Amino acid sequence: MEASRGMSLHTKMAIGFAVGITAGILANSLAGDAGWLDIAINYVANPVGKVFLNLLFMLVVPLVFAALVLGVVEIGDPRALGRIGGRTLIYILAVTAIAVTIGMILVNLIQPGQGLPPELAESLIAQSSDRVADIATKGSAVSGIDLLINIVPRNPLAAAVNGDLIGVMFFALMFGIAATVVASDGTRSFVGAVQGVYDICLKLIGWIIQLAPYAVACLLFTITAKLGFDVLVQLARYVGTVVLALALHAFVVFPLLIKFFGGMSPLAFWRGAEPAILTAFSTSSSSATLPTTLKCAEEGLGVPRPVARFVCTLGATANMNGTALFEGITVLFLAQFFGVELSFVQQVSILVLCIFGAIGAAGVPGGSLPIIAMILAMFGIPPEGIGLILGVDRFLDMCRTTVNVGGDLVGSVVVARGEAKATV
Ligand code: ASP
Repeated sequence: MEASRGMSLHTKMAIGFAVGITAGILANSLAGDAGWLDIAINYVANPVGKVFLNLLFMLVVPLVFAALVLGVVEIGDPRALGRIGGRTLIYILAVTAIAVTIGMILVNLIQPGQGLPPELAESLIAQSSDRVADIATKGSAVSGIDLLINIVPRNPLAAAVNGDLIGVMFFALMFGIAATVVASDGTRSFVGAVQGVYDICLKLIGWIIQLAPYAVACLLFTITAKLGFDVLVQLARYVGTVVLALALHAFVVFPLLIKFFGGMSPLAFWRGAEPAILTAFSTSSSSATLPTTLKCAEEGLGVPRPVARFVCTLGATANMNGTALFEGITVLFLAQFFGVELSFVQQVSILVLCIFGAIGAAGVPGGSLPIIAMILAMFGIPPEGIGLILGVDRFLDMCRTTVNVGGDLVGSVVVARGEAKATV
């Protein structure tokens, strides 16, 4: 991942990160509503950031398809495939459950929903009523059973066009399994072509990532220059609960997993994962980060290619520890605010729903909000309460996406270690 000359890409990205945040915060506090700031945001920072995001998103569908087909074909042996698939599934379910539990314990201890001034809440909800209506409509369109049924796409091209990555993944997995079973000349040349697609995508991401330091600065400048710091302060207890829970998961649970189940030093892990972590924080999208995640897993962390491809690609949509934790906290926070009493059994049901909700959430900015709306409605908590947190959602999205992507990389290291042990 090193830049060809001079400073390493890691360092450049870290500088872009610091410059974007500092300049954005300064502009926000010094220039506020100034016209030039609007121009700088709308005509420079925002377009540069968006072009970078589009370049990353452009690679997601071909990469997901190619990575999964090749992952399955390279693993080859159905027993190894079953083992890696089973371990990945257990990892996702167990670590996501730990994440939601941390969140739910903290929200019960801190009780951020108590004592929030009703006038503040009303004005926050009123400010975001249009977006909330949109989210609530999307939320009511998803039902638990539909999430399951839609894993199997009726039309894989439509799934790709609509960004339904779970559908694309299912199709790719089936394709990979059949290609392994048939192993004719035809399938071998097909796999060769898919390998070509994968190599081309990785080359492209190698070029695109060179833009990351500048794009990261622009994305972070755009967000911080417009960020409502007032809202962050007003909802400080809620924001603090989410950030504390995410930090516990990232800095206690991840290092333990890395050390004891991955056999790697946590420091070496963070160093290898850094470009993906910074990209996740700046883009708020696990899917947009996927190309960088794959590159980090293979090159930065030395995870064998088939495992990296399999775990990170599935993980980008299915393994979202930060999102699950955030969903749990937000549902309970709003229940506390609206005075909806939840029994222990109801809280456990919310925990389970959050695990599956995180698997079903799309890896895009705000992807989990419709799922939260759905869970709120199921427990008689007013879904328009989401309006309360929209002002701080972007910041929390950056933090939770970072944990989501970190979790994918931890998973790839842990599964790779298990596989290495199983095959000696
Ligand atoms: N933005 C998150 C991701 O892409 C999903 C979410 O929690 O909204 O991982």
